Amino acid sequence: MTDCLFCKIIKGEIPSAKIYENGKIFAFLDINPVNHGHALVIPKEHYPNLVDTPEDVLDEMIRAVKKLAPAIMRTTGTDGFNLGVNNGEVAGQLIFHTHFHIMPRREGDGFRHWHGEPYKEGEREKLAERIKSEFANN
Ligand code: 5GP
Ligand code: ZN
Repeated sequence: MTDCLFCKIIKGEIPSAKIYENGKIFAFLDINPVNHGHALVIPKEHYPNLVDTPEDVLDEMIRAVKKLAPAIMRTTGTDGFNLGVNNGEVAGQLIFHTHFHIMPRREGDGFRHWHGEPYKEGEREKLAERIKSEFANN
């Protein structure tokens, strides 16, 4: 896609700190990291988000994460990582070329998880039933 920032990064039209590349996948360091080593794993073909990305491509992306995350942790001396996907504008997606965030983590780094919205009595079970039926019927 011509006006996509990540497509331009893959083509080398915009410089990036590349950490990995194979036939289908490209990975590079995020310009605005949660912690140093924060990386983005993207397919070379353009898909707007996770749901629009074919299974075989997602497969390659997660395989790259499995190999890259330990290398990032070893290099940055971090002890864990969060794997993130912002899917849709409301979820904070800014670049509409599908990507996984690998965010290396260390004790006390201040990264905050999401807040909770508690269920009322019985609400959780009802919602689970509705999702199951929606999934089964579509
Ligand atoms: P999103 O919010 O879409 O899940 O994440 C987009 C990510 O792309 C952000 O974390 C942002 O810092 C990163 N980003 C945006 N522009 C550039 C860029 O030009 N180069 C690099 N390396 N990362 C970028
Ligand atoms: Zn793109």
